[in-house]
Amino acid sequence: MQTYNPITQEIVDKLKAITGPSYVKTDKDILVQYQTDYENDPQKFHMPEAAVLPANAEEISQIVKLANEYHFPITVRSAGTSLADGAIPVYGGLVLCMERLNKIIELNEEGMYLTAEAGVRTLDIQKEAKAHGLMYAGDPSSAESCMIGANLATNAGGLRAVRYGVTRNQVYSLEMVTPTGEIVECGGILKKCSTGYDLEQLIIGSEGTLGIITKVTVRLIPLPPYHFDVLAIYTDPRQALYMVPQLMKAGIDPTSVEYMDNSYVRDTADYCHYSDMPHYEDGIYVIITVETFREDELDTKMETVCNICEETGAVEVLEADDRIWNMRRNIQNSCELVSKVFLTDDVVVPVHKIAPTIEKIMEIGEDYPFQVKINAHIGDGNLHIVLCKVNMTDEEWAASVDKFHHQVYEYAYSVGGRLAGEHGIGAKKLQYMEEFTPSGELQVMKTIKRAMDPNNILNPGKLFNA
Ligand SMILES: Cc1cc2nc3c(=O)[nH]c(=O)nc-3n(C[C@H](O)[C@H](O)[C@H](O)COP(=O)(O)OP(=O)(O)OC[C@H]3O[C@@H](n4cnc5c(N)ncnc54)[C@H](O)[C@@H]3O)c2cc1C
Repeated sequence: MQTYNPITQEIVDKLKAITGPSYVKTDKDILVQYQTDYENDPQKFHMPEAAVLPANAEEISQIVKLANEYHFPITVRSAGTSLADGAIPVYGGLVLCMERLNKIIELNEEGMYLTAEAGVRTLDIQKEAKAHGLMYAGDPSSAESCMIGANLATNAGGLRAVRYGVTRNQVYSLEMVTPTGEIVECGGILKKCSTGYDLEQLIIGSEGTLGIITKVTVRLIPLPPYHFDVLAIYTDPRQALYMVPQLMKAGIDPTSVEYMDNSYVRDTADYCHYSDMPHYEDGIYVIITVETFREDELDTKMETVCNICEETGAVEVLEADDRIWNMRRNIQNSCELVSKVFLTDDVVVPVHKIAPTIEKIMEIGEDYPFQVKINAHIGDGNLHIVLCKVNMTDEEWAASVDKFHHQVYEYAYSVGGRLAGEHGIGAKKLQYMEEFTPSGELQVMKTIKRAMDPNNILNPGKLFNA
């Protein structure tokens, strides 16, 4: 286990000299908010020794140099919505908050790009693009709170990934502070480039272990003027899942294809107080969104989607209203109705393996006492499994959750899947990353980390044992 030096008064004074005294926090009452992110199990919480709120890349650079000199760890924090314990300072030390880097710098309509500081909320980027008749296609469900730099750090996915891809597909360039404190720009506003290593793509998804992202330039695309949302209700999960390949083969190119199992249908309807949702008792919901640039194309595609759903066994096919999306957005919150302690997981498999994977997980789950809930971005092979702790001791819970995860990950890897499709590894899945990643791949990752961060300053205890 790596050890670090404590944050002494001398270090606190130097931090204050960099940012100004009011942006360095050492009061326990304030630090308590940084001991966790979206993790709800107190056993996973860790208190930092200090928190700092820098204003810009230059200040961050000086702070990182100080950390190397005095050997204390830094955990970067944006909005703290990580579902992988990514923003928890597992080695204590300093939490570096991004919230003051909150300016949109430029929206260029002709070039169709937007440059912003890393602490801008994702929703504000979406809104700014829309105000100019454009779209930022990154769309995590947490967009109202999460920040764009962290979306890059986690390579966030979201509801539109089937059509537009994930965060890494939206990025032109980024500015970062390296683990040794240099400010570096990577990438450019280029459609193509074969000029050395693709560094911005290396940093995207590195979860704050290879650099602190301070500025981003993302691509914008034309905003399709027409769209429809269909709610297809099935009572047999297999039929719902086997509908997806038919949709793809028909050339529909949907923006979203979202799956909610029946426990989610009931819990989210209860959470949102929608007592009259169709097929509340037995329905599995699949929400399909299609966007087009022409009205006649919209009509044709809508007819095809409805036909495919009916042919594959949907018991009801409706035009979805806002209530459906509200239910979908409250999936995470609705778990609280079942248990105060629940665990969200994120697995990705090849798209054509999503149906057997969900079936397999439901089968594995039958042997366990906890409740297993599944929702999935079934159009891109990414599924979220939530386990709710009910009538179990902490010891039973920990042991059975670990056993369940081993079975699920073994199956996912056997069909070509990976541990995380969008939430990342963080501290939560570090042990599984060590266990399941092919050794050659893991060694290359560790070599890169050691080369870039020789003192292991940035986000230790995340991704793998560096
Ligand atoms: C209700 C809910 C819905 C969600 N829906 C989705 C979804 O649809 N898709 C999805 O992918 N995720 C989703 N998430 C997870 C989470 O919102 C994303 O991982 C998001 O990208 C994290 O953003 P944040 O600002 O909260 O970052 P934080 O939680 O603060 O940090 C996340 C990680 O990134 C690192 N980091 C943060 N900022 C930087 C930076 N500037 N430079 C380098 N590293 C940094 C942190 O150290 C940490 O490891 C959801 C979470 C919740 C609670």
